[in-house]
Amino acid sequence: MSNPMTIFDKSQEGRKGINLPPLDVPEVSIQSSLLRQEDAKLPELSEFDVVRHYTNLSNKNFAIDKNFYPLGSCTMKYNPKIAERVASLEGFTQLHPHLITNNMNEDVQGALEVVDMLEEQLCEVTGMSAFTTTPQAGAHGEMLGVMMIEKYHESNGNKRKYIIVPDSSHGTNPATASMVGYDVITIKSDENGAMDFEAFKAKMSEEVACVMLTVPNTLGIYNKRIKEICDLAHSYGAMMYYDGANMNAIMGVARPGDIGFDVIHINVHKTFATPHGGGGPGSGPVGVNEKLKPFLPDLGVEKVDGKYEFSKGGVDTIGKISPFFGNYGISLRAIVYMMTLGGNGMYNSSSKAVLNANYIRVRLKDYFDVPFDSLCMHECVFSAKTLAKNGVTAMDIAKYLLDFGMHAPTVYFPLIVKEAIMIEPTETENKETLDIFCDRMIEAVKLAKEDPEAFKSYPKTLGVCRPDDTRAIKELDVCSCH
Ligand SMILES: *Cc1c(COP(=O)(O)O)cnc(C)c1O
Repeated sequence: MSNPMTIFDKSQEGRKGINLPPLDVPEVSIQSSLLRQEDAKLPELSEFDVVRHYTNLSNKNFAIDKNFYPLGSCTMKYNPKIAERVASLEGFTQLHPHLITNNMNEDVQGALEVVDMLEEQLCEVTGMSAFTTTPQAGAHGEMLGVMMIEKYHESNGNKRKYIIVPDSSHGTNPATASMVGYDVITIKSDENGAMDFEAFKAKMSEEVACVMLTVPNTLGIYNKRIKEICDLAHSYGAMMYYDGANMNAIMGVARPGDIGFDVIHINVHKTFATPHGGGGPGSGPVGVNEKLKPFLPDLGVEKVDGKYEFSKGGVDTIGKISPFFGNYGISLRAIVYMMTLGGNGMYNSSSKAVLNANYIRVRLKDYFDVPFDSLCMHECVFSAKTLAKNGVTAMDIAKYLLDFGMHAPTVYFPLIVKEAIMIEPTETENKETLDIFCDRMIEAVKLAKEDPEAFKSYPKTLGVCRPDDTRAIKELDVCSCH
């Protein structure tokens, strides 16, 4: 690594990065008990040193603005810079959140209008009757959705006992179900990668509170029997939960509300102009149909006599799940994104995301194992299990790609595919980029077969190459270069 030093290592006593003007206000003395005994140990550097330090650090990181980022189930795509511009307008960023709690809605009409617009547009995109933007991530939205379902069943006299999920579900689904106090029934996938319908039917009963499905599922497959599943669940009085974390194949094409779902969460930080893969802030708005509307959480907006006012959520609200309107900056990006694209634009995005994923699927299917050989939606899943017999794993393939300035695809997820490699190219990549990626993947397989041992020495060009994954998270060491 070219420069493994921290900013503290670079400090030189007396060096300065700022020039304050002479004091032109009366000096105030602070009582000595409130003063430090020793000077704070701050690094001392020139402004230029600081700029270089952080610029170099940012170059060591990987970002969607640098190159291809095919991390499956994260929708790492180009986010129009206009969304960033609007989200950083002072009129939004300088609003104090307590303007909301103090009911000073005169001063925040514009900000409230944005919440209203976002709720309305998400209703339009999903076919639901009402939305709340308060949840702060996908998992938070799931929790809210399931809590509303619980309250709905309670209001009918019995909260019920079980939540059904397929074995391909995202880990947050069963985790949410169990945190709210439900027992989880897991249904296996059939040979097409969809939830096994007969096994599902056998488990369906009046003790099932809801069925949680990701559509398309985490294998990138659209369940063709989705309507039958909804109808069967509803015939037992159960609710249908749509995990809409990734709307990239669906937006502008199909609407969960029309299919028959009762509640949905959307990760606007995946599909709608905020990158997800870096683990930054999220936002998981939740939409409901008429049946669940009474249970919406506190803080909503409503328009009374042409003016926006804060409202309680539903008439039978579950209460507050978030102090304010969630991560408001993410909401802003989402509304700008939708307004920039419009309905046709969203349809085109989804279509192209699906086309790109299928292009990769077809180009690579003779080189890797294919767990489910069918048309995919916005992402495709391969397996490296044949290569693994000779010692080369999905992780080794991922590591190889890093030398070529690309991010790796998701590996080892979904859990039901051995040595899984999950690729989500998104709509914003052009054919040339997809081809470079596919060429590298094919080259990787060739090299791995020729010399499995040598293949495990990639990446060779990066400062940090093969850390212990678990330890690297727990014991962050930004200076080491092994
Ligand atoms: C990302 C994701 C989630 C969880 O969203 P977070 O915002 O990370 O909590 C849930 N379900 C699916 C299918 C996802 O892809």
